[in-house]
Amino acid sequence: MKKVVVIGNGMVGYKFCEKLRKIASPEHVSITVFGEEPRLAYDRVHLSEYFSDKNADKLTLAPLEWYRENQIKLHSGKLIAHLDRTAKTVETHDHQVFEYDQLIMATGSSPFVPPIPGTDKKGVFVYRTIEDLDAIISYGSKVKSAAVLGGGLLGLEAAKAMLDLGLKTHVVEFASRLMPRQLDEAASKALQTSIESLGIQIHLNKSTREIAGNGKLDGLYFADNTQLDVDMLVISAGIRPRDELAHLSDLEVGPRGGIVTNEFMQTSDPDIYAIGEAALYQNMIYGLVAPGYDMAEVAAQHILGREEKTFMGSDMSTKLKLIGVDVASFGDPFCENQAHYPIVFEHKSKGIYKRINLSPDGKLLLGGILVGDAEAYNMLLQTMQNGLSLPPDPEDLILGARGGEGSVGQGVENLPEQAQICSCEGITKGAICQSITEGNLNSVQEVKSCTKAGTGCGGCMPMVTDLFHHTLKSMGKRVKKTLCEHFDYSRQELFDLVKINAIKSYDELLDKYGKGDGCEICKPAVASILASIWNELITEQDTIQDTNDRFLANIQKGGTYSVVPRVPGGEITPDKLIVIGQVAKKYDLYTKITGGQRIDLFGAHLHQLPDIWEELIEAGFESGHAYGKSLRTVKSCVGSSWCRYGLHDSVSFALEIENRYKGLRSPHKLKSAVSGCIRECAEAQSKDFGIIATEKGWNLFVCGNGGAKPQHAQLLASDLDNESCIRYIDRFLMFYIKTAEPLTRTSTWLNKLEGGMEYLKDVVVNDCLGIGAQLEEDMKRTLNVYKCEWKEVVNNPELRAKFTHFINSDEPDESIRFERRREQKVPAEWGK
Ligand SMILES: Cc1cc2nc3c(=O)[nH]c(=O)nc-3n(C[C@H](O)[C@H](O)[C@H](O)COP(=O)(O)OP(=O)(O)OC[C@H]3O[C@@H](n4cnc5c(N)ncnc54)[C@H](O)[C@@H]3O)c2cc1C
Ligand code: SF4
Ligand code: SF4
Repeated sequence: MKKVVVIGNGMVGYKFCEKLRKIASPEHVSITVFGEEPRLAYDRVHLSEYFSDKNADKLTLAPLEWYRENQIKLHSGKLIAHLDRTAKTVETHDHQVFEYDQLIMATGSSPFVPPIPGTDKKGVFVYRTIEDLDAIISYGSKVKSAAVLGGGLLGLEAAKAMLDLGLKTHVVEFASRLMPRQLDEAASKALQTSIESLGIQIHLNKSTREIAGNGKLDGLYFADNTQLDVDMLVISAGIRPRDELAHLSDLEVGPRGGIVTNEFMQTSDPDIYAIGEAALYQNMIYGLVAPGYDMAEVAAQHILGREEKTFMGSDMSTKLKLIGVDVASFGDPFCENQAHYPIVFEHKSKGIYKRINLSPDGKLLLGGILVGDAEAYNMLLQTMQNGLSLPPDPEDLILGARGGEGSVGQGVENLPEQAQICSCEGITKGAICQSITEGNLNSVQEVKSCTKAGTGCGGCMPMVTDLFHHTLKSMGKRVKKTLCEHFDYSRQELFDLVKINAIKSYDELLDKYGKGDGCEICKPAVASILASIWNELITEQDTIQDTNDRFLANIQKGGTYSVVPRVPGGEITPDKLIVIGQVAKKYDLYTKITGGQRIDLFGAHLHQLPDIWEELIEAGFESGHAYGKSLRTVKSCVGSSWCRYGLHDSVSFALEIENRYKGLRSPHKLKSAVSGCIRECAEAQSKDFGIIATEKGWNLFVCGNGGAKPQHAQLLASDLDNESCIRYIDRFLMFYIKTAEPLTRTSTWLNKLEGGMEYLKDVVVNDCLGIGAQLEEDMKRTLNVYKCEWKEVVNNPELRAKFTHFINSDEPDESIRFERRREQKVPAEWGK
């Protein structure tokens, strides 16, 4: 029988035991583990959670029975003090000797304590073990302030913990910026703004000369002769691999520490392996758990003589947790040594900074940085790792689609089967889907325990959830479509709850029916529900709107905004045309006629928007709602006024309809058109609701759209008079608004509606549910409170100030360049 001995029962040592036992039975391989810490292996990644409930058991990776069941001999609280490579034995600190055939060094690392005089004083701590945290909690309860030495990933996590202990918290960083290894200058600044707004004070460019205090720390002296008075200090200045045993037994060690290994994790002694934070592979120490788990797998396989799997280095993508500020960096965040094009979006006052680096041909994602909003992290990481193709405008990956088309980039369903979803556990999309289908799994929790996906750092959970829903759906199972983890209700249920309980704000709804703080899914969805029901000013809920709604304008390539005044029915007077021309000229805006028969003005800076709109409103224009999930345009042909085929006055009817439904908020944008005869010059059958003149009145078509997946509208009712036509549209739209999921166009909604068009006809025309009058009443109430949002902003100094507050940066941003083309300003092409 082969004797395998493991030194170190940390995260990676434990994972190694698990992986080896899976492929080697106790009859063939004995496993003996020595751990210096006095407890079972625990989840160090989530160590900071210990502050909130002080429950060490919750962090434990496996109970004692697991070791028994798997016949793994565990010696906790035993330090291995000697290693005799000739005799192939290890010796504990209390002189017990054990033999090995193969030895695994999973000794991890210890916090690096810089050689500053005074680090041995009372009140100085490190942040690595449960015992460290116990000591910090106990000391912290007696003092008022704390400093963290080190503004890296772990230092910031420690700082948040100090803040949560109720201490006045400082971060002292030697470098000129926070997280210098993961973030560029601008990203660090954005992060600093957000962290300072939490109440943590940041001190950059500070070299600590001495720790002040008589036996007990009472401050820090810096090399620039300044000082900081604090009561305690947590040192988080990096890690040093624990390679002392390797040194003592003449194994090869790197010049800056770490046990040198080959691609099978073998050290300079082929019977000794090093894994986790103690291992140095190609001059690199991997201070993250995912590469450690990968190394554990490689070593377990190699011990059994399998050489197919090798360690090939690992991506150092990370997402900072717990600090209350989203921060992530992935792939090559700086691209200092490779040709690339960066695309940068920055919103300084909001603390948002996003950067993606593209290959020179713009086809591949090489890496990036996200601060302030890291929602896209998982998908960007997958896009990069799997070399997925990018959308036609790759900036949409960080800006979101313009024009309100919802999410961009590839969805989880388009990832290849071999895409690694959970990098901590190395679980692929294929493996997750297979266990859902074959194991008949019915909850995300079951997927987690069955596949282990999401049990490491937990960063992949949104994707695992998406995959779960997608797979259930493909199996024909019903998925209760809750809005997100903060609301256990569907959009439709929330709609009813808001209405029945007369709820007027997001916070009120969250208080009564939700949990947590909300997210980027539920906030805009609730904003849309509130707007649909109460039709109040969208700007009053601005903090929960998506960017387009927040600034009542679509953000465009280059970070500027577009201005789109309403031109009902596409009819416009020469005077109004002149005003548009004058405004465009004055603010140097690019003008273009749209497919919806109006004029887009592109290239406005955020702070210019209220001034531009003031001039337009003065001339009688209103908001065109091009930014909102609401009615866009009602296109019309010239109809019977001018056209010799025209049966009715399509322009007048289009005007009436556009003016009726303008500003109506809905799950997605709405488009409409009116044609004066069957020749259909206004293309009404490609709209959400389209009207075509007949000899006897109007035919009403619904649920069509153009766009990426065109769908013809279907006939809802024929030969209607004006009044009936409007009544049916009222019912149809209100029924859609109440029942469709967020970001669902009418066509998709109809495709999913049980009973399809026949059922819709029954509801709208035959009133089979008896709700016709109610739908009309709801519509009337909503329409009665219509106000032009831009008029409100222009005339309300408080709302207006929100735009002047967000003045775009004056600093030149190299990614935003304009050039002149055909006598107008346009964003410069990349790569030129
Ligand atoms: C607060 C905190 C937050 C973190 N957050 C993240 C994160 O979000 N994402 C991420 O990927 N990583 C994170 N990490 C890093 C992650 O925890 C480590 O990468 C991982 O724990 C490394 O596992 P390891 O087994 O190599 O080392 P360890 O977990 O340190 O285990 C090594 C064990 O070996 C023992 N040992 C050492 N020498 C001997 C000896 N001679 N005899 C017996 N036992 C010995 C040690 O006492 C220790 O218990 C975080 C770490 C900390 C401290
Ligand atoms: S079709 Fe629409 S989304 Fe696509 S490039 Fe043109 S304007 Fe943009
Ligand atoms: S749809 Fe008919 S009425 Fe309208 S412009 Fe075309 S041909 Fe004329």
